[in-house]
Amino acid sequence: MTQSHEFHLAKRPTEMPTADCFELVTVDLPEPADGEVLVRNMFLSVDPYMRGRMNARKSYVEPYEIGVPMGGGAVGRVVRSTTPDLPEGSIVLSYNGWRDAFVSGTKGLDLVDATSVPAQAYLGVLGMPGMTAWSGLNLVGEMKSDDTVFVSAASGAVGSLACQLAHRAGCRVIGTAGSDEKCRWLEENGVNRAINYRAVDDLAEALRDAAPDGIDLYFENVGGEHLEAALASMNNHGRIALCGMISLYNDPTRSTGPANFIAVLVKELCVRGFIVTTYMDRYADFLAETMPAVAAGDIHWEETIVDGLENMPDAFLGLFSGANLGKMLVRLPEASA
Ligand code: NDP
Repeated sequence: MTQSHEFHLAKRPTEMPTADCFELVTVDLPEPADGEVLVRNMFLSVDPYMRGRMNARKSYVEPYEIGVPMGGGAVGRVVRSTTPDLPEGSIVLSYNGWRDAFVSGTKGLDLVDATSVPAQAYLGVLGMPGMTAWSGLNLVGEMKSDDTVFVSAASGAVGSLACQLAHRAGCRVIGTAGSDEKCRWLEENGVNRAINYRAVDDLAEALRDAAPDGIDLYFENVGGEHLEAALASMNNHGRIALCGMISLYNDPTRSTGPANFIAVLVKELCVRGFIVTTYMDRYADFLAETMPAVAAGDIHWEETIVDGLENMPDAFLGLFSGANLGKMLVRLPEASA
């Protein structure tokens, strides 16, 4: 009998989640029926949007239910198969994360080509976060080559690609991140000025200094003080692609700013929120542009790897303290099989 170890949501947090919000449960898996496969996951994704799913209220994704397996991105290997569509050894992308194994039909499992890039790239630079960066800049923010682009949470999975795509498009790029080491990495990878927001007294002033001619496009990942600082430096008719507001996800009051929202009126800004799933019909265009550059090493991507399923809650919580450079992933033993 094959077993799966999987995380269930045990209780809903109101602020920063604690260890008792997650329960690791062992379940027996059935034998794959006709047309089904047994998959052992290799890498699991942790993403900020999962915090929203821990709340009871619906946002753009359904809430996790208490006492049922949590979901999320995962890449795994088919180890038993009853269908020629996914032979044994196939590498598949699924949303059956937060667990080490599962039995499933082929629906919802996407074969990935892990010959020129490692399989876990499809959870990061070539997956949902990468697509978020590309669609946010191009389809939402309408990036132009002479833009000054500001990216917050610039060294993370989405931000690190957004910065490099903007640089490759010819833009001047400014990024914020939470450590000097992250800022160094950014400046080595196409960012003209990286600001360690934890080390400055006045973020708005630091941003004005980094962008004396103003910001044309802000790729917003953080919210709060970052948004206020950006609004103060936006040029007239500037654009804000509102991708995320991670500084607010664990704040039940969500009371922070922006005190200067009137800048949207005065400067005639276009502020446009977006959800990556809306743009998934352009995924092939995104891959066509980025895959060759990633495979050739012209786009750099980092990953921060936490080993062991049992450490998944810590990896997830690490997103809110800046524990990651690039994509945060959990690696399971199947990755080295
Ligand atoms: P990241 O890899 O960027 O990880 C999160 C990073 O955010 C941390 O490493 C940390 O870096 C930074 N951070 C955490 N808390 C704070 C805070 N209070 N203030 C400032 N920075 C903070 O995650 P992703 O790349 O997966 O996601 C980035 C953003 O994009 C998130 O807001 C996410 O919700 C959003 N997103 C939106 C999507 C959409 O469809 N709209 C899809 C995917 C992601 P540091 O050391 O710099 O603090």
